[in-house]
Amino acid sequence: MTSDLSPGLWIGAFGAGFGLLAGVGAGLLGRAQRRRLGALQAAQAEERARLEAQRAEALRRRDELQAYDEVLALNPRVGHFLWSLGPDRLELSPHWTPMIGGGAEDRPASMDALRLRIHPADLDGFDEALNAHLQHRQPVFDRELRLQHALGHWHWMHWQGKAVTPPGAEVPDRIVGHFYDLHAQKLAEETLASDRRLFDSGPVIVASLDAQPPYRLRSVSASAAEALGHPRGSKLVGRRLDELLLPEDLPPVLEDLGAVLGQPGASFQREVRLRLADGGSHWHSLHAVIAGSEGQTVRAYLLDVERLKQAEREAARQAGELQVAVEHLTLSQGYAERLRELSEMIQFAASEAEAHELLAARGPQLLPGWSAALMLGGLAGQVERRAAWGPVPAAAVQGSAECWALRLSKPHAALHGAGACAHVEGRPAHSLCLPIPGLQGGAGVLQLTYADPLDADRLRQAEARAAALAETLRLSLSNLQLRLSLQEQATRDWMTGLYNRRHFEELLPRELNRALRAAEPLALAMLDIDHFKTFNDRFGHEAGDEVIRCVARHLADFGRPYDSRCRVGGEELCILMPRIAAAEARSRLEALRGQIAASPVHHAGRELPPVTVSIGVAEAADGGGPAELMRRADLALYAAKRGGRDRIVVWTPEHVG
Ligand code: GH3
Ligand code: MG
Ligand code: MG
Repeated sequence: MTSDLSPGLWIGAFGAGFGLLAGVGAGLLGRAQRRRLGALQAAQAEERARLEAQRAEALRRRDELQAYDEVLALNPRVGHFLWSLGPDRLELSPHWTPMIGGGAEDRPASMDALRLRIHPADLDGFDEALNAHLQHRQPVFDRELRLQHALGHWHWMHWQGKAVTPPGAEVPDRIVGHFYDLHAQKLAEETLASDRRLFDSGPVIVASLDAQPPYRLRSVSASAAEALGHPRGSKLVGRRLDELLLPEDLPPVLEDLGAVLGQPGASFQREVRLRLADGGSHWHSLHAVIAGSEGQTVRAYLLDVERLKQAEREAARQAGELQVAVEHLTLSQGYAERLRELSEMIQFAASEAEAHELLAARGPQLLPGWSAALMLGGLAGQVERRAAWGPVPAAAVQGSAECWALRLSKPHAALHGAGACAHVEGRPAHSLCLPIPGLQGGAGVLQLTYADPLDADRLRQAEARAAALAETLRLSLSNLQLRLSLQEQATRDWMTGLYNRRHFEELLPRELNRALRAAEPLALAMLDIDHFKTFNDRFGHEAGDEVIRCVARHLADFGRPYDSRCRVGGEELCILMPRIAAAEARSRLEALRGQIAASPVHHAGRELPPVTVSIGVAEAADGGGPAELMRRADLALYAAKRGGRDRIVVWTPEHVG
């Protein structure tokens, strides 16, 4: 407070005035006067003593107030104010500045200036509290409000004051009181409230239990009932630990509790499953602390980690699946690689028979443990076994009606024995038939069998691999057939259907080498139609063609499957005859020559004159290449012509060109 207001100084001045009056009157007055003076002096002394006492009292009050000021000054969170009502003047103690920031000059000097800094939402309440007090509805002015801090944020304060009415006046002329800093307390309250909201609604259950068996629940956050699936507001307090946890999680928790009981501050952590109202459970992360000075309480914090656990389980499952998929992929890559190799080899096989041999050789590595048969279209709509492997036997021939895969044109699986096609022999545990459509020669089917029962995973894998194998066979075999037929077209003479010269030139060195390596004989016969020009000349070119075709037909029907018949020039033909010597060839060719000579040829409704051929035969010999063999056959043919035609001559060293 200001020293102007201190009553002690006034009292001191008043006392000094009385002393002066008493000194002046003592020497001039009579007895009666002296008596009166004595009485007056006594009264004066009494008054002086009274004033002296008053002064001492005032000084004591002043010291007390000063002490109180000093004590107040010690508390930076409490300041005082004096608000003069008219004119509006506000005095704030220096506490204001550290509380609300800014400099001393920023202190509001009037209530109007203060009101500018009050939070708009608190202004009405502030005015109402002031009015309520000034209108005697409230004994004091008392309000919590937010003021704008110099740094801009809102700062909580508490204002309390009381109106003072001057002596003799009707209405108060000021309000005195204090303001104190409420900010930290308000923040703490808000934090507490939000913590409570968090505990009551958030994922954390806070619970207290007796720190002794059976560990009854003493208190628990409001959210717990709902979190555990009980109706809102259900009473959980009083329940035992064994009613809260799944039975299998109880023993480890009891063990943990046993280790920390009686030790305030000791704690443990563990994942447990809390029972749900519906009989299920949720994983919770439990953090338990022994609380209370005697350790009489277990404080437990439980965080629901069920979704985390689910995510973990899902991640583990997916990782497992991925592992399987990766293994599968790795295996599949190996399998795909082997299929690709097989496919390539089949496509570049020299014949279909060779392709089937390749498949039979490589099949066991493709589907280990499985027996298989590749059956392709044969005579009379039946399928014939072309390649087979594995311990379960496969029929050599079957009617296509016996196979469900062929009848339905889709894979037929008879897993676990039931529903196998009739053609499946040997009673295997599993059989699979896969159609192979689109091949020349008709239907095809791949039959796969496995003798012993397999688990579902391996069956699924086998089915997938079998499908891939069937598809590979379909593509590679049809490619092979296409290639062979294109090759056939390129190597055949269009007019006669015999091999053409190009093919003959490829064939001859190959066959010659093979014969020499195998030390087997090889005969080459060259044929030339006798006086062919006369057919052209007399009956026309077409009649000549017909003569060539007619002779070619005799050649096609002649000999063994592995004899190769070619048209090497206009009306010049040849036959390459492996594994027989010239003499043997000659006797066989004799029949051909006789047939040709005896067969009439017709053209344009007319029978043409008899057609004869001359034939020269030579035999593969040491040192002689393809050109030499042809030269010798030609020389023998020339000899046959010279010898009178319609005859066969075998080359001998005497035939010199
Ligand atoms: P030789 O008994 O001595 O063999 O008498 P040749 O009349 O048969 O004589 P040569 O073998 O030299 O005659 C071949 C003739 O064949 C020549 C050619 O006009 C004819 N010729 C060649 N190719 C064809 C063909 O594709 N069709 C027809 N109609 N004639 C052909
Ligand atoms: Mg000729
Ligand atoms: Mg001729």
